[in-house]
Formats: sequence, structure tokens, C-alpha cells
Amino acid sequence: MTRKVSGPEIERVVQLLARLPGLGPRSARKAALALLKRRNDLLVPLSQALASAVDLIVECPVCGNLDTVSPCSLCQDPRRDKSLIVVVEEIGDLWALERAGVVNGLYHVLGGHLSPLDGIGPDKLNIPKLIGRASSGEVKEILLALNSTVEGQSTAHYLSEQLAPTGVIVSRLAQGVPMGGELDYLDEGTLAAAIKARRRL
Ligand SMILES: [Zn+2]
Repeated sequence: MTRKVSGPEIERVVQLLARLPGLGPRSARKAALALLKRRNDLLVPLSQALASAVDLIVECPVCGNLDTVSPCSLCQDPRRDKSLIVVVEEIGDLWALERAGVVNGLYHVLGGHLSPLDGIGPDKLNIPKLIGRASSGEVKEILLALNSTVEGQSTAHYLSEQLAPTGVIVSRLAQGVPMGGELDYLDEGTLAAAIKARRRL
């Protein structure tokens, strides 16, 4: 049996941290120790930030983004093109696109991808609201910005079928050679996608 070296409160912090993605028990212990050692400049401000996040942050009822206002500030932004909805799997993907500053439309966060083996069917994703938004008359194009994985692509295929009756244009991200990519280093799947998606100059 492993001996407990710290009190239950510290154990609890470690256990909770260990649930975070990318943190195993070992790195959770490290993180907990760093927090406890830096009480004033890390632990206290972090606990305050987390408490205010609990109080203030809500999921946008329109797009599924997280924000302190509802609908979220992106949905409320009058400068955004309301005829374009960019569909992403997770909020992290939305953040990545916003950091790049390449989307001037609205978003829709699915909350994952279809994965029948893990029991994730269409009913577990934010799909009905997307169909509803696509049918509103204001939307002209739905861009499926899903991951280039088997699950992401089968989710895109499913969505394009579901969206067909709405009559909106359904598009997806281009696949192929990444910026700065050298052909010699790319895998066969990426090369095949790049050849398939070639365009005339
Ligand atoms: Zn929103």
C-alpha cells in the first residue's frame, strides 16, 4: 500500500488536477505542489479566477461557445457576416480560428464528433440547433471546419446529408499540403488529399 504523504485537502487538489487533459497523477502532484508553494501569486489568484468563472461563464444558447454574456459576444457582434456559419468540433477549434482572425462569420460548436464505438451518436452532439440555424433563412453557407480525422470526416459527411434539405451551401476546409510543408515529409493520405483537391492556377 502506498503511504499518504499529504492531508486529504492536498490529496483532493491532486486528484482533481489529475482529471485535466494532459495531466497524469505525477504531473498533477507537481502542479499541486507548485500551486501550494506559490500561495499568493498563484494559488489565491487562480482560485479567485476559477470562482468567478463558475459564477460568470455560461454556454451560449445559440452557438455553444463559452462567454460571460448570453448570447456570446461573437453571436452578438453586428460586424459579423450572419450568412456564414463555421461548424467546429470543440471550443478550442473556435479559439484557434479566432486567433488566426480568418473567420468573419458566426460559429457553431458541435461538442465533439460522431464516434459510434464510444457511444457518441448524433443525439450527443449539438446538431438539432445547427439544422435550426441553417433553416432560419438568414444563413447561406455552412462551412464544416472539422478535424481531418476519420471521425471528423464521417461527422462532416453525416452533417452534409442532414443539411441538404435546408438548401444552404455546405462547404468544408481544404485538405492537403500544409503551409511550409515539404512533399517529401508528408504521409500518403495527405498527399492523396492534396492531389484530389488540386486547383487550376
Ligand atoms: Zn454564441
